[in-house]
Amino acid sequence: MSLRVSAINSISQGKAPKGPASAKITALFGENVFTLQKARAFLSDEAYKSLLSSIKGSKKIDRTVANQIAAGMRQWAETKGVTHYTHWFQPLTGTTAEKHDSFFTLKGDGTAIEEFDGAALIQQEPDASSFPSGGIRATFEARGYTAWDPSSPAFIMEIGDGKTLCIPTIFVSYTGETLDYKAPLLKSLEALNKSAVEVANYFDKNVSRVAATLGWEQEYFVIDEGMFNARPDLVLSGRTVFGHAPAKGQQLEDHYFGSIPERVYDFMRDFENESYKLGIPLRTRHNEVAPAQFECAPIFEEVSVAVDHNTLLMDVMNRVARRHGLRVLLHEKPFAGINGSGKHNNWSMSTDTGVNLLAPGKTPKTNLMFLTFFVNTIKAVHDYSDLLRASIASASNDYRLGANEAPPAIISVFIGGYLSKVLEEIKERVGDKFDEQDEAILKLDLHRSIPELLLDNTDRNRTSPFAFTGNKFEFRAVGSTANCANAMTTLNTIMADTLKKFKQDVDVLIEKGDKKEIAIMHVIREYIVASDKVLFEGDGYSEEWEKEAAKRGLPNLKTTPLALDAMVTEKAKHLFESNDVLSHVELEARHEIELEKYIKNVQIEARIMGELCTSHVLPASVKYQNILINNIKGLKEIGLKESSYANQLQILEKISEHINILSDLVEKMIEARKVCNAMTETRTKAIAYESQVKAPFFDAIRYRVDKLELLVDDSNWPLPKYREMLFIR
Ligand code: ADP
Ligand code: MG
Repeated sequence: MSLRVSAINSISQGKAPKGPASAKITALFGENVFTLQKARAFLSDEAYKSLLSSIKGSKKIDRTVANQIAAGMRQWAETKGVTHYTHWFQPLTGTTAEKHDSFFTLKGDGTAIEEFDGAALIQQEPDASSFPSGGIRATFEARGYTAWDPSSPAFIMEIGDGKTLCIPTIFVSYTGETLDYKAPLLKSLEALNKSAVEVANYFDKNVSRVAATLGWEQEYFVIDEGMFNARPDLVLSGRTVFGHAPAKGQQLEDHYFGSIPERVYDFMRDFENESYKLGIPLRTRHNEVAPAQFECAPIFEEVSVAVDHNTLLMDVMNRVARRHGLRVLLHEKPFAGINGSGKHNNWSMSTDTGVNLLAPGKTPKTNLMFLTFFVNTIKAVHDYSDLLRASIASASNDYRLGANEAPPAIISVFIGGYLSKVLEEIKERVGDKFDEQDEAILKLDLHRSIPELLLDNTDRNRTSPFAFTGNKFEFRAVGSTANCANAMTTLNTIMADTLKKFKQDVDVLIEKGDKKEIAIMHVIREYIVASDKVLFEGDGYSEEWEKEAAKRGLPNLKTTPLALDAMVTEKAKHLFESNDVLSHVELEARHEIELEKYIKNVQIEARIMGELCTSHVLPASVKYQNILINNIKGLKEIGLKESSYANQLQILEKISEHINILSDLVEKMIEARKVCNAMTETRTKAIAYESQVKAPFFDAIRYRVDKLELLVDDSNWPLPKYREMLFIR
């Protein structure tokens, strides 16, 4: 029996477990997190205070205090049955990494004790040689170490019966270059804090800290594990490289409004419970547009914690799905012709006085503050749209961006009709005087008008990659597999830089004698004019927009190898270095790593395509070809005339043609791959993999395979079909 058939059979036998018993979320929430409340209970006054101030980033923790904190953490963890600890970090591979050590140790005299000291908490040396470093380690002959990040709380990961205390850390080389996603993210948050506070102080002197906030929305597919295992392409590359579109796709849109299937619902409740224990504040769950596609979203948090929570969630979802005989597909485009998955990043900034800086105001003063941060964001996206594009570039996201149901690879900003009008009016004001019309604009009740108008028409526009949604911007082009840190680091940094320049520009005018409000209004006006071309309100998926964007000179880079170039321009190097986020060396290394990841991904897909053709598709097709041949031979033998087997002949001809062309294409693709593999320069190789392997062969091969899928006897077809993966549960 083929894996495909046994997978279908075992679904109907219903082996999946039920979800967990319902529990109050508040009873579970944060149960496995070393929250400040728990720290308070397990730490001395001195240790607790020291932890608090290091969370705020203001003070380093010294060794003796670190010992106390480590001891407190261990005590708490042991009350929960934890035996091991690990430094948990986010290397540039895109997944999370951990190396488990037990608390157990032997003293000099051989007595066994449980121990976890400050040194083990603060720093560790994982074997860094197998993590990507883009040549940094080779250049500097440095090893890497992980260093505790007190701003993110420790937590307990439960896997089966095992429990591990996880210490969130950053990952750095001995020469100080960062080797992970988290360290530059923290630096970008600091840069943004600095410039945003200075600008916010124009309006309120009491603001002393500005934190960026992130609420992500995670889209994903869920399919049966048996079917997953019967699809080597899903197992190895995360997406189906072949598969004919099912007779029914998403055209009825019945999935979006439908109820969640029970088996998936049990899985959701299970992974939600696990997430609550880890302090991930999940709030919404629903079906998405495509069949078998779903979404979850938490309440927003400060960016660094939200990033940790998203990476943790992806991990938890993967593990819990398997308990239910299911698999989660986080890939951006697991099924051709069916909507892909994104990870919308809702982003804003909030002050320690409790103000959301992107929330429209009610008074002239708060309006001016809102307009300042709003227009600065638009200017930042305008000036650095190439970097935002680079921050979301990956082999898997290339299948989604620019495809017909996803945001285009062109970065534009959508702000809605009402705010467009407001900006238009500000732009029209000429001359130096702060006149009545300026006053009138500032007196608008933006707070009330904007949400109403957004509900009216704007949130309907889901085609924009970067949209204002009432009190935050939503960066929609982020891929569903991505670590949000990459996009967030870039967004924070370009915003920090733009605000820094804004402050300088305003101060120049103030020094010349302008009143503060007038100076601010002038610079806002100047920025609106300067970033005009990035604003777009129409349908981002349309062809007209591609043409219009080209006319406006907006970049439209559809492939990752070229999109990544933006990371290493002089402009990018200056930006990241002057804001103390990434050095030249680090940028070059990251660029190299992203290119390598791209090459490997395309390489794996090309290999799996070749393998599936030669060992699955062609044998099944030839088998059916033989059946037809024997049938025709037999009919001929018993003396029937040709017209009575014309149909079989026709099918045989078609099948034979597809078989021949397919095996020829596969051979040629293997040759093309060999040519690419011989290349030594990473960027050239990545570009070649795109233009010599992927572009000329992937679709052409798929076309033949999908035709064969339709022609070959269903009972002989080895791979689960789209209709089975998407509709049987
Ligand atoms: P909708 O579902 O209509 O898009 P929400 O406004 O609730 O509505 O937002 C979607 C996501 O945006 C949620 O994850 C939410 O937590 C997040 N979000 C809301 N406000 C902010 C904010 N100020 N900063 C960052 N994210 C936010
Ligand atoms: Mg959204």
